[in-house]
Amino acid sequence: MDCLFCKVIKGEIPSEKVYEDEFVYAFNDISPEAIHHILFIPKVHISSANDIDQENVDYVSKIFLAIKKVAEKLEFADSGYRIVNNCGQDGGQTVEHLHFHVLGGQSLGWPPYHK
Ligand code: AMP
Ligand code: ZN
Repeated sequence: MDCLFCKVIKGEIPSEKVYEDEFVYAFNDISPEAIHHILFIPKVHISSANDIDQENVDYVSKIFLAIKKVAEKLEFADSGYRIVNNCGQDGGQTVEHLHFHVLGGQSLGWPPYHK
């Protein structure tokens, strides 16, 4: 399978690692949209939010625990941040490996889309 983020996990594509544990890998987005823009991905291939199921859902909770840890470490937990998951074509998903964008370190606008 030719998945960009599976290659990032394996180290076949370089990344700026921010956090790693048994279940989760996190790295800086190559095209940041905020002072902190970190991608959190499960260490198994899950194509999108549509593919979360009873078998793999624990990876999602581990990701949320990791997000909290990183937000605290980088000192933007208290000021706040945004967690974004783009799912499918209308959601703007471009990489088909489940990922959560975490944006922080500054005040963020809302809504993030145009009607
Ligand atoms: P999405 O549009 O939600 O699928 O988000 C994909 C994100 O991956 C975009 O924000 C890209 O900037 C980011 N991205 C793509 N390739 C890389 C890479 N090699 N390293 C880090 N981030 C990447
Ligand atoms: Zn993958």
